[in-house]
Amino acid sequence: MASEAIARQAVVIGAGIAGLAAARALSDHFEQVVVLERDSLCDGPVHRPGTPQAGHAHGLLVGGQRALSELFPGFERDLVEAGAVLVRSNIDIRFERPGDPVPQRDLGLLNYALSRPAIEFAVRLRLRSYANISLRDRCRVSELLASPDGTAVTGVRFDESGAGSQELRADLVVDASGRGAPTLAMLKTTGLPLPEETVIGIDQGYATAVFHIPGDAPADWKSVLTFGGLSPTSARGALLWPIEGNRWILSLAGRHGDAPPGDVDGFMAFARTLRTPTIYSAVKNARLDSEIARYGFRDNVLRHFERLEVFPRGLIPIGDSICRFNPVHGQGMSVAAQEACLLRELLAAQSPPGDPLQGLAKAFFEKIPMLIETPWSVATFDFMHPATRGQRPADFETRIKFAAAFMKLAADDPDFHRLTAEVQHLLKPRSVYRDPALLQRVLPLLAQG
Ligand SMILES: Cc1cc2nc3c(=O)[nH]c(=O)nc-3n(C[C@H](O)[C@H](O)[C@H](O)COP(=O)(O)OP(=O)(O)OC[C@H]3O[C@@H](n4cnc5c(N)ncnc54)[C@H](O)[C@@H]3O)c2cc1C
Repeated sequence: MASEAIARQAVVIGAGIAGLAAARALSDHFEQVVVLERDSLCDGPVHRPGTPQAGHAHGLLVGGQRALSELFPGFERDLVEAGAVLVRSNIDIRFERPGDPVPQRDLGLLNYALSRPAIEFAVRLRLRSYANISLRDRCRVSELLASPDGTAVTGVRFDESGAGSQELRADLVVDASGRGAPTLAMLKTTGLPLPEETVIGIDQGYATAVFHIPGDAPADWKSVLTFGGLSPTSARGALLWPIEGNRWILSLAGRHGDAPPGDVDGFMAFARTLRTPTIYSAVKNARLDSEIARYGFRDNVLRHFERLEVFPRGLIPIGDSICRFNPVHGQGMSVAAQEACLLRELLAAQSPPGDPLQGLAKAFFEKIPMLIETPWSVATFDFMHPATRGQRPADFETRIKFAAAFMKLAADDPDFHRLTAEVQHLLKPRSVYRDPALLQRVLPLLAQG
């Protein structure tokens, strides 16, 4: 039971990473937290239809690990017990970027590599120890319930498999449904404006297979990240990532119609065309341990809830419901966990008397742009590819020049290399790059072109 509850019941829609992390954040401040999930949840790390992306390689950034550990102290130990492979981020991962001058270095950042179902299951197991959180599976939320004047959300209507339609009252509903459909539907039916969206269209196709790691696997890396080149024909990329059970998960990606095939021969042929032979050489004789899963990712989407003047009391969207990123950069789970930490912080600052939930959504939305700025700035680099759809940032050419200068500096200076890795892992905001002393060092590199 929450020691300092500010309200009686919160409902979370969806038991993905965002929903599970949010449930923990709420549990300190509500008497009861109920998570409603449309899928059937097995007692194990099993793939399920409601998260089709979970069959693809999922790296958890160090910033995401820290956020989950803040919510679940000792969480990294749970990951180890679940079979995580320890990957020293800038030395065990072989980064294959065209023209990258930065050497592999141990910067002290440690990744815990697992499959996405195993990460999610580790979080679910942790939630079991909170007596005031209940996880109800096979419960699909069909709509949000609103007050008669439409200014507040008062609960949800949901269909429970075998038990029909039901209603659940809530002081707060957190929409962690991935697409945010319940929130958008509610705004529409009550006649409120929808949030503006920034969209960066990448039309990325994925195919993924799992392999047993062969006995003669290379010893000088545990993971490989191969980036494509800039031309549409060389934009193919791949991530080979170790997971529990002495296996590799290999996700191949291509853009704008160049999707990797879903049959084994086609998959291997695609792997063979990557810009470097490292990944193909590693897996060509490895034993396949899965079918090939495919996924289409159309757009990076950022919803600007912070620009809305009116938003219903008692409703908060979180995770992918706010922002979906190009998966290549492995940011979604980490951002979702950081948003849950933010929510917990804001709830801790609310105190009766008065209505502690009245300004919550506004306060949450006001902080989101700062939290999202760093991961979203990575998404804007998708405009490097000429066929990317959307509004290029006006200063895009300058950003590219700075990125190139930063790479040069990182190659020569291990401390600056560590700083860039900390930004990439969402441990520090990219605003650290605005330090005047740093700019003094970068300007000569910019001048060199
Ligand atoms: C191909 C691919 C690879 C990715 N790789 C990475 C990676 O390497 N690293 C990383 O950090 N992120 C990665 N991501 C992103 C990551 O999966 C998500 O950003 C992250 O899991 C947060 O998602 P979420 O919890 O908001 O939504 P989801 O994971 O979509 O979860 C939503 C949940 O809500 C449930 N639900 C939906 N509607 C309802 C309803 N009406 N009623 C009840 N339940 C409902 C769903 O069944 C699901 O369980 C990747 C994404 C893709 C597509």
